[in-house]
Amino acid sequence: MKTAVLIPAAGMGRRMENPIPKQLIELQSKPILIHTLEKFEACESVHAVFPVVPKDRRDEIRELLDQWGIQKVQQIVSGGKERTDSVYNGLQAIDPCTDIVLIHDAVRPFVSICKIKQVIRAASEHGAALLALPATATVKRVQDHIIRHTLDRTQIWLAQTPQGFRYDLIRQAYEKAIQTGIKATDDTALVEQLGHPVYVVPGEESNIKITTPTDLAIAEMFCQMR
Ligand code: C5P
Repeated sequence: MKTAVLIPAAGMGRRMENPIPKQLIELQSKPILIHTLEKFEACESVHAVFPVVPKDRRDEIRELLDQWGIQKVQQIVSGGKERTDSVYNGLQAIDPCTDIVLIHDAVRPFVSICKIKQVIRAASEHGAALLALPATATVKRVQDHIIRHTLDRTQIWLAQTPQGFRYDLIRQAYEKAIQTGIKATDDTALVEQLGHPVYVVPGEESNIKITTPTDLAIAEMFCQMR
């Protein structure tokens, strides 16, 4: 079974209040993107990796891959305007004989190899799968500072990545998204819109998405603890 991994990393990360894109900020003197790529490098179930990066940073990323000895990257793909465009560009770079495509946030470097394998297995069994955690906080829908709706917490799970798909299914979901102009912050949402069920694999709390300066401080702490 052939598995390819897409790493959308073409965003500018404006919430980080840092001129460097968040995936290139260093954790323990190593760019976050490299920490993330090392996880897939170490997972024998993964055969090819495709980072999707800002067009004007491709040379810089190529140098980083050489510097850190990352070997599974098959192509450095140029990103698009929105995340959806970036993932679509990545999908076009993948060999159509690929069985499973994983899509993983560049800024989740603490994903475990065990969970990567579980998502690959679930995606091959069910067609689509993701990591998610049961919500511990209550989620409110708010408009103009007024609560419009309180969601039933027992039914709420928070999506993480990797999200995994059979190649044909994610291709079909993205062809439709591009044609109809649907934007998604989460890839399984596009598969759900096709009416296809998505299997949920319990995630891990440590698999944080480094989005804000506070997340970065927590990430540094995780690194020191390990
Ligand atoms: O903005 P957000 O944190 O949801 O972005 C999720 C991921 O999508 C990030 O890794 C970011 O680099 C990537 N992205 C992208 N192309 C864009 C916008 C975001 O690859 N045009």
